[in-house]
Amino acid sequence: MALIGDNWRERLNKPNFENWNSQRSAELYNVREWSAGYFDVNQDGLVNCNLSIDGNKVEVPLLDIVQGSRERGMDMPMLLRIENLLDERIGKLNQAFAHAIDKTGYQNHYRGVFPIKVNQQCHVIEEIANFGEKYHHGLEAGSKAELMIAISTLEDTQACIICNGYKDEEFITLGLHARQLGYQCFFVLETPAELPIIIKRSQEMGIRPLIGVRLKLSSKVDGYWKDDSGDRSIFGLSTSQLVDVIDDLRRADMLDCLQLLHFHLGSQIPNIRNIRTGVLEACRYYIDIVQEGAPLGYIDLGGGLAVDYEGARTNDTHSMNYSLDEYCIDIVEAIKETLDSADVAHPVIVSESGRATVAYSSVLLFNILDVNRFEPKFIPESLDPECDENLVGLEAAYKSLKPRNVQECYNDAIYYREQVRTLFARGLVNLRTLAQAEDFYLAILNRIKALLPQVKRIPQELESLSEQLADIYYGNISIFQSLPDAWAIDQIFPIMPIHRLNEAPVRDAIIADQTCDCDGKINKFAVNGNTQNTLPLHPLSGDDEYFLGAFLVGAYQETLGDLHNLFGDTNVVSVRIHADGSFDYVDEIEGDTIGDVLSYVEYYPKQIMDNFRRNAERGVRSGLINAAQRRQMMSDFNASLSGYTYYEK
Ligand SMILES: *Cc1c(COP(=O)(O)O)cnc(C)c1O
Repeated sequence: MALIGDNWRERLNKPNFENWNSQRSAELYNVREWSAGYFDVNQDGLVNCNLSIDGNKVEVPLLDIVQGSRERGMDMPMLLRIENLLDERIGKLNQAFAHAIDKTGYQNHYRGVFPIKVNQQCHVIEEIANFGEKYHHGLEAGSKAELMIAISTLEDTQACIICNGYKDEEFITLGLHARQLGYQCFFVLETPAELPIIIKRSQEMGIRPLIGVRLKLSSKVDGYWKDDSGDRSIFGLSTSQLVDVIDDLRRADMLDCLQLLHFHLGSQIPNIRNIRTGVLEACRYYIDIVQEGAPLGYIDLGGGLAVDYEGARTNDTHSMNYSLDEYCIDIVEAIKETLDSADVAHPVIVSESGRATVAYSSVLLFNILDVNRFEPKFIPESLDPECDENLVGLEAAYKSLKPRNVQECYNDAIYYREQVRTLFARGLVNLRTLAQAEDFYLAILNRIKALLPQVKRIPQELESLSEQLADIYYGNISIFQSLPDAWAIDQIFPIMPIHRLNEAPVRDAIIADQTCDCDGKINKFAVNGNTQNTLPLHPLSGDDEYFLGAFLVGAYQETLGDLHNLFGDTNVVSVRIHADGSFDYVDEIEGDTIGDVLSYVEYYPKQIMDNFRRNAERGVRSGLINAAQRRQMMSDFNASLSGYTYYEK
């Protein structure tokens, strides 16, 4: 029997990977296109976080951070937060608007707010509030809980607090308290029903509220969140409701409180033209509301500033066809030109960018536990003369395979394997014959895949051969917990190895997670600027560990996650990188223990320990184990309760 070695396919498919180096890895994984310059591959084949701090170029390999965390007992999987990147993004956003305002001669300033729902984690919000203070960067709250975060975290009363969402009396009372403390806290009306409560509570408390109105624009946008805008949007006021609001405020002698016009076209808007159209439409409303006698003074563009997850620079759903600077210039120009033509003063520009602010700062790091390959184990040099005739057919197809007869051999492989399966089901051939047939089948398919580059016209059914034969890399993660959008809405995140990048990634893979769910896999990747169903990865080498990173996961992924199969929160490590290239672990949060996740579904560690003890005692009584074994069992059970929910080495 000839052993088919591990590099069987690689030998056949080598040419693309000759003279590989880290530069070519950087191109393959497109890192320079999606990372906004914050990540790159270094000469040693490692992914670095790249920053410029106090004029120094600083490069820190993510692998160094991983090693340091592990030495401190924080194992994989882990979510890495790089605090500097939060600061970077807040700085960039504010500077880009300041630059656009300067360049166009716009006569007012910009005030950003971070929408808390995009990442509510305490450490993230505190960093945004602290660093953002120099720009008076505020917070947006969509619920009472989020408003409570905002008014307890922000110290800067010049920063805006924007209250969206449906507001009950308690919500409004909290917001009015923020006004009493001098905060620029706006109630944005989502429905007409909120207005009477705002009028009543502010009269009772003797406070002039700041009121905004959320418009339902007719401009529609491309991308996944297109239903946030348009006539059927579930948010915002229709034009006739807006007119009623103006009349009601006038009647209550509170029209002067109407100071902000809000619209939100949707998240991740890939096409800059949609943004411009939306702004122009909103400006028409702005002018008319001012002419109705309301002061206004603030225009709030909502979110929507996209992140180029694919690094493709197109108007595809997970990409964007504009830069941050273009975004700012387009908006500032559009507002200026429209309002100038009506002789209306320029308002403060507010935006609620969430995704573009926090996506970069978090990286999900995980190890690969195992790989399943779709390759034959053994192909015999010659068949047993007594063997089943279908094996002879398979061997003939395998040996005759050439670029010009791939379709024919493919048909044969399917036909003969099916025959053997049928015979097996009827008890006419044994397990070993079936195993040989499966091996021949895989050998033929793998060889066809290797020949495809030489085939002139590739038959349609062979186009997906790469996917059919892709390796399955088992990642130590739960997609449902850590990358919920990859599961729920087919969001693409850049995923790549964080080391070994000067070696050729010769395997085609998909990634499966630790849950027992067939949806627990990732099979959509951006590679080389295209989306494809497999990701090039390195073969595992001996017992060496293999680490992957899923990047740009700082927005929305942390609290949308769920407890599928009771995999809990991962460890979280926050670092701050310094100008000399050193870094501090500024915050470490241990992931959920098994005891934690059990208590989320109402099992109490003490109680299940008692229950298990009873079962163990029954085992002692019936003679299955002795008392000393019971004691060991209880101690193991107890240790597991405080253990990590993920695979531990
Ligand atoms: C979700 C949301 C945002 C954040 O949108 P991004 O696209 O993440 O910037 C801003 N404003 C409102 C009203 C939202 O609902």
